[in-house]
Amino acid sequence: MFSTAEIGIDLGTANILIYSKTKGIVLNEPSVVAIDVNTKQVIAVGTEAKEMIGKTPQNIVPIRPLRDGVIADYDVTAQMLKAVLKKVSKTIGSSMRKPVVVVCTPSGSTSVERRAIHNAVTSYGAKQVHLIEEPVAAAIGADLPVEEPVANVVVDIGGGTSEVGIISFGGIVSCNSVRVGGDQMDEEIIQYIRKNYNILVGERTAENIKIEIGYANADHKEASMEVRGRDMVSGLPKTVTVTSTEIHTALKESLAKILEAIRATLENCPPELSGDIVDHGIVLTGGSSLLNGMQEWLANEIIVPVHLAPNPLESVAIGTGRALKMINKLQKAAK
Ligand code: ADP
Ligand code: MG
Repeated sequence: MFSTAEIGIDLGTANILIYSKTKGIVLNEPSVVAIDVNTKQVIAVGTEAKEMIGKTPQNIVPIRPLRDGVIADYDVTAQMLKAVLKKVSKTIGSSMRKPVVVVCTPSGSTSVERRAIHNAVTSYGAKQVHLIEEPVAAAIGADLPVEEPVANVVVDIGGGTSEVGIISFGGIVSCNSVRVGGDQMDEEIIQYIRKNYNILVGERTAENIKIEIGYANADHKEASMEVRGRDMVSGLPKTVTVTSTEIHTALKESLAKILEAIRATLENCPPELSGDIVDHGIVLTGGSSLLNGMQEWLANEIIVPVHLAPNPLESVAIGTGRALKMINKLQKAAK
């Protein structure tokens, strides 16, 4: 007899991660698939496919199937899921033949989308498939005591969405999701540079600018960076210098929307739990929580303590894997 692998999948809009109960994080790659439009064949997935963005011949198209937090293309999503499961099966070994899988889906996903994910994983050969909500996974992965009757507030700021949830007693008390995250920040940087310098920069350049000199707080030590793009008038490559103050201006709108979602969720919190929030504060997860100055800026705006999870980019995947224990417990209790 062989043992059954228990794995958690964080199906993120920017990154897909797989966590194995015995081996930890076994896959962490961009949620990108490169497809040959003529043959409909998958050419590459993950890191290899992301490298191709903006650089491929016309017949090969890199697709981010979960781009705006919705499953824009669930055929491609299913193909991506199968490809990554196949990839990790080598690492995990024979127990991957009939794994038990927990998948964390973006909370905006519809029942049709959830069924499509369920089917894709089942058709791979999974013995059991469970889907869980992102804020719950994020909170478990951030080591919050989600099963206790206290307000655990988690804010997951990802690529396509930001999700805010208050979890107590193993369930969601209040939550909100907005389709704003790192992708929109990148887009705002592209627009800013286009409007102010007449230069077009690519998505990956915009992301680099954000990570290097993007700040959530206006009050920071100013930095600058040389940026290369295409001059929209001459059509030729051109280099300009942009400052962190300019990038902060560009990011303001996205940040305001995320803040609004957090405020709305906190306002919906039952009064008995509000005291916990004042004491324990909130925890940030997701890649965009790593934006420079994010923690200080938020703490200033909402006047409660703001903590960063130990591994913000991995919290959801870890939580999804660990959730299996809770699911087993709940199922036993239901019997
Ligand atoms: P998702 O769960 O939607 O897949 P992730 O939690 O993986 O998203 O976060 C991906 C986002 O985090 C991307 O938009 C990326 O640009 C952003 N990101 C990653 N590192 C940083 C950083 N150091 N500063 C700002 N943004 C970051
Ligand atoms: Mg995520």
